[in-house]
Amino acid sequence: MEPLSPKVESRQELICRARSKELVLHMTSKNSKPLCRLCADTDILCKAHLIPEAFYRFLYEDSKVEGDALKMVLQNIDYLKKSRIGVYDDHILCANCDQKKLGILDDYGKEILIDRMPIIVNKDISVLDNIEVNKLASFVISVLWRCSISKREEVRHVNVGVKFENQIRELLIKNEDVTLHFPIVITKLSFLNSSYEKVLFMPVPIEIDDVNYYYVYFPKGYKVLIKIDDKPQHPALNLLTMKVGYPVYVANTEQFENTNEYTKTALRVKTMRGL
Ligand SMILES: [Zn+2]
Repeated sequence: MEPLSPKVESRQELICRARSKELVLHMTSKNSKPLCRLCADTDILCKAHLIPEAFYRFLYEDSKVEGDALKMVLQNIDYLKKSRIGVYDDHILCANCDQKKLGILDDYGKEILIDRMPIIVNKDISVLDNIEVNKLASFVISVLWRCSISKREEVRHVNVGVKFENQIRELLIKNEDVTLHFPIVITKLSFLNSSYEKVLFMPVPIEIDDVNYYYVYFPKGYKVLIKIDDKPQHPALNLLTMKVGYPVYVANTEQFENTNEYTKTALRVKTMRGL
């Protein structure tokens, strides 16, 4: 942790800094190495992917990690950063938590979101059938949690705050019903150009009518809205919100090529390539 600057800081500055990741106190072991952020049992940490490796693997042709590396567009870097198999952090999780506790969720997330297709009900709604709802909800929120606790540059803008980080950790450890605490709505984009199914974004914060949410993205156009706020869920979203014991609806929203994500990213790539 960075020491606080000795200069007198204004209240506003302090609030800003308190919201930044640098001031978050981490549990440490006796030799002051950080402990695993999930189990807090060990300081022997592994290279943990923030978004599971299988989702990056899917971005390659036939899911084979070969040929050109993936290219990442980052808002604060003026070139396309290359990445072989995605963003990982070796300061957050032990191998047991990464590969077993969260690994089970990751395998399930891949099975449902990558290997299966939702069943189309009408042009606006599809349904994911035969789902372990809390397992899928735990998976998507665990991805947001991993991005939030990481200090990697690529997820600097992802910060749900210590209170919600701790709450998510507890739910994951105790395997409790995530959907009772964090309303989640799954949406899916369609594509004019199907090669964009193999595009992946880092989570982003979004405010809807004064309520704070995050979008967590997965390939194939999945864009999952998670409420990270004490204020109630927007009533218009209630019917689509994941609940244990109910079908999981997928709202078919706009075409990827019409989204802000596409416009902004295409513009960044053009600028970086000097086009
Ligand atoms: Zn652990």
